Amino acid sequence: MLNIWSTETTSLSIAAVVLVLLGLLSGNWFVASLITLGIYIFWLYRRMLKLERWIRKGTRASEVFEDKGFVGVIIRQLQQQKKIHNRRKRRTKKILHQMKENISALPDATVLLNDELRIEWCNDPARYLLNLRSPQDLGNKLKNIIRDPSLLAYLENSLGQEHIEINSPLDPKITVQVRKVSLAANKSLLIARNISDQKQLQESLKNFVANASHELRSPLTVIWGHLEMLEGEQEISESGKRSLHIAQRQTERMKELIQDLLLLSQVESYHLAIDEGDRVSISELKTGLLEALEKYDDRHRVHLDFPAHLFIRGINIEIQSICINLVENAIKYSTPDKPIRVRWFENSSAEYVFNVEDQGSGIAQEEISQLTNRHYRGQKSRAEVSGSGLGLAIVQHAANKHGAVFEIVSEPGKGSCFSVTFPSYRCLRDDRHIHTVSPLANH
Ligand code: ADP
Repeated sequence: MLNIWSTETTSLSIAAVVLVLLGLLSGNWFVASLITLGIYIFWLYRRMLKLERWIRKGTRASEVFEDKGFVGVIIRQLQQQKKIHNRRKRRTKKILHQMKENISALPDATVLLNDELRIEWCNDPARYLLNLRSPQDLGNKLKNIIRDPSLLAYLENSLGQEHIEINSPLDPKITVQVRKVSLAANKSLLIARNISDQKQLQESLKNFVANASHELRSPLTVIWGHLEMLEGEQEISESGKRSLHIAQRQTERMKELIQDLLLLSQVESYHLAIDEGDRVSISELKTGLLEALEKYDDRHRVHLDFPAHLFIRGINIEIQSICINLVENAIKYSTPDKPIRVRWFENSSAEYVFNVEDQGSGIAQEEISQLTNRHYRGQKSRAEVSGSGLGLAIVQHAANKHGAVFEIVSEPGKGSCFSVTFPSYRCLRDDRHIHTVSPLANH
């Protein structure tokens, strides 16, 4: 610091000496001052110009110039800052390189996309799963390389799903699960995984359950027939009749279980396309529901509100099973003196909602998330009511298959409300029909 000021003081002293000499020689102190000031400013200007040129050229160490004054201090500061910056840059580069190497070693395909969904970087497995090559495909739009409309819809966030499954562009037999992770600056990371083995295992398990259930149906029908024949016999003792009744009840349960297993394997089988399915009439659903409820003596407490002009695009038997399962549960899990409200209505987003409200035992909050698991049965239900624990699993899968949302709201001791909301693209209407509300007792 002292050194700078000594340099600057020396130059100012030289300027003063020049001024005195010029003043004495010329006798005109004003002109002498102007000349001295001009020389001093010119000297300063040259130093600043040199500094500006050096900075403009990138503050290179090879082109640095010597200055003992305050310009020298600026130069040294800039050089020090540059050193720190370079050190940081090297460290970041190293970390980035290590990260890239680590990601490359991952068995999952990883692709970095920019805000325009162009490929910025991809690892080796991306080549074998998604047919992307680095560096050839870098900078290209992903949709120009993988021409799968569902992938594009997913990337543009129009499906609202956590991940999707597509066939590998290299081999359609390979099923790839793709997940998008959003990053900063509108970038995203695509992680793709080969799930063919998992899919195959699931498929064979599903087929096994479906085939076994199917095969069990015939012997069960024979047993059922024989039990019915025995029921007509006169010479059966009282205890024999009791045993017969138990056998009939258990056979009935087995029949229902098999039906549920078959239905479950059907609802899980594939995803419905947006425009796929029949035009299912809500009033026909009501007819089917009424038939299914005939076995319940207390069915009069079920109040139905099924507008006749509404239709859903979907699979009839599956939408029917949503209705029957939810209404049967409401009957099973509430006492015969409590009313049950069942209705279809259109919400403000033009979606059709199927809603079942009961005033039954209700469900504890922590239990609600488990209800749709296969074979899950509430502790009390297991002891008091017969069932397979498949009903709500079927409802959940059928809802998923139709792109619908299944919701359960319940308060222990007060009752429950189960609703399935179908997306507007599945909702059709016929305005010529008139809307009617009817209590079940009238049918
Ligand atoms: P299941 O009725 O054969 O037991 P579900 O899958 O239909 O099987 O239902 C699972 C469980 O959810 C039932 O065992 C019961 O504990 C609970 N549950 C379902 N519906 C209701 C309801 N309306 N009120 C109270 N609990 C219910």
